[in-house]
Amino acid sequence: ATPTAVMVGTGVGATQGVLIKGGQALESAHKVNCIVFDKTGTLTVGKPVVVTTKLFKKMSLKDFYEFAAAAEVNSEHPIAKAIVEHAKKIIEGEENHPWPEARDFVSISGHGVKAIVLNKEIMVGNKKMMLDHNIAISADAEEILTEAESLAQTVILVSLDKEVAGVVAVSDPLKPGAKEVISILNSMKIKSIMVTGDNWGTANSIARQAGMETVMAEAQPETKATKIKELQASGYTVAMVGDGINDSPALVAGDVGMAIGAGTDIAIEAADIVLMKSNLEDIIIAIDLANKTFSRIR
Ligand code: ADP
Ligand code: MG
Repeated sequence: ATPTAVMVGTGVGATQGVLIKGGQALESAHKVNCIVFDKTGTLTVGKPVVVTTKLFKKMSLKDFYEFAAAAEVNSEHPIAKAIVEHAKKIIEGEENHPWPEARDFVSISGHGVKAIVLNKEIMVGNKKMMLDHNIAISADAEEILTEAESLAQTVILVSLDKEVAGVVAVSDPLKPGAKEVISILNSMKIKSIMVTGDNWGTANSIARQAGMETVMAEAQPETKATKIKELQASGYTVAMVGDGINDSPALVAGDVGMAIGAGTDIAIEAADIVLMKSNLEDIIIAIDLANKTFSRIR
């Protein structure tokens, strides 16, 4: 394409809220035949809400949420925000309710958080986190996990002094239109793959709802980038679509990195194309634009 064609292409993109950072991004987008999607905040709305709480210890729901929120208020994770928001509702009446102090707070990427709250060691995280710390998961808890995951929910376990005190199921629904976008990409012969740090059960349920066949779950941020390099080695031109801090290595690894505009600054910086309106439909607009720019003049 001529520089003028590229300028027109990027200009048209800009008017539609598709920010293309240069001709190379447009050319790569034209060649893309595989798109790797982050799940949380990219395919899903990204604002999880607590839908179920089940206690396994003799304690009040209020006390349970005091502990959970005291630990999670220190985390930036969307699940942490959901738990704190829910805790505020349970402990209603007090607008700026002060959470108990959390000492020795540690955030374990892809697992959860731990801290000392009111002299108890608390962990809030997924099954992997509990197993890593030798915390037993009862058959009752396992049953809740399986059921929630089949409903595309994510289950977070809360342990106090190494015993599971309760579980919290959070729901983060698929974005409206996600299924249609995947189906259009299919018809364009572009393969769609989901990659997520979330568990296999939940990831598979969301993938089923989106009509996606290939899923990679329980992925660490570095794994996301490695997966992209593998796809490239097997001949694919890969676009990565993501929104989070932990998506940036993958956004850089992709032939094209596309960031969701409502995502983190780090993702936006790492990307070649920014979808300012945070609509998945704009992936198709970007590719269409690239195709028009690079097939018209050559
Ligand atoms: P992704 O952004 O792809 O969903 P992450 O690596 O951020 O994945 O998180 C993966 C999983 O780790 C989450 O689904 C959750 O189970 C667990 N997790 C991470 N951070 C927290 C947290 N602050 N509280 C509870 N669970 C967490
Ligand atoms: Mg995300």
